[in-house]
Amino acid sequence: GHNNLNAKLVLLGDMGAGKSSLVIRFVKGQFLEFQESTIGAAFFSQTVAVNNATVKFEIWDTAGQERYHSLAPMYYRGAAAAIIVYDISSTDSFARAKKWVQELQKQGNPNMVMALAGNKADLEDKRKVTAEEARVYAEENGLFFVETSAKTAVNVNEIFYEIAKRLPRA
Ligand code: GDP
Ligand code: MG
Repeated sequence: GHNNLNAKLVLLGDMGAGKSSLVIRFVKGQFLEFQESTIGAAFFSQTVAVNNATVKFEIWDTAGQERYHSLAPMYYRGAAAAIIVYDISSTDSFARAKKWVQELQKQGNPNMVMALAGNKADLEDKRKVTAEEARVYAEENGLFFVETSAKTAVNVNEIFYEIAKRLPRA
C-alpha cells in the first residue's frame, strides 16, 4: 500500500558549515556563494518518494551560533531526523558537530535517525578532516555518514533519501 509520512528534520552544526546551503540545494536546486547567515531558524518543506512511501520533510534549518543555542531544543525535540553538518576544511566545525551529537544522544528522541554530513567536499585542497576519521566516529556513534557539497550537489539528495529510507514506518 501507499504510505504518506510527515517527518520533522533538524539541521545542526557550526555557523558557516553549510546547513542553509544544503537545504537550499535540496529544496530549490540552487547554491549561493554568499549565503546569508540564518537568524534564529528557517523552515522549509520538501517531499521525496522512496519505495512505496512519500515522505514530507518539515525541515528546521537552525542558526548554529552559540547565542541561539538555548533555542535548539525547540527544533530537535520531536524531530524524527537530524543532519549534523560540519565543514571538511574546519577541525573546529567537526568538534562542534560532535558536541551536537552528544547533545542529541542525551536530549533527543531516542529513535531519531541521525546523519553526519561532511560538507564542502569540493574543497579537497583545504581539507582538515579526513573522511576516515569521520567515518569511524559516525560508526561508533550509530550515525550514517556522507561527505556532501552544496556547491556541486554531490550527495545532497542522497542524504535526504537515505534518511527517508531509514525512518520508522507506522
Ligand atoms: P550555515 O551557517 O551552516 O547555514 O552555512 P551557509 O549555508 O550559510 O554557508 C556558509 C558559507 O559556506 C556560504 O558562503 C556558502 O556559500 C558556503 N558553502 C556552503 N556549502 C558549501 C559547499 O559545499 N562548498 C563550498 N565551497 N562552499 C559552501
Ligand atoms: Mg544558515
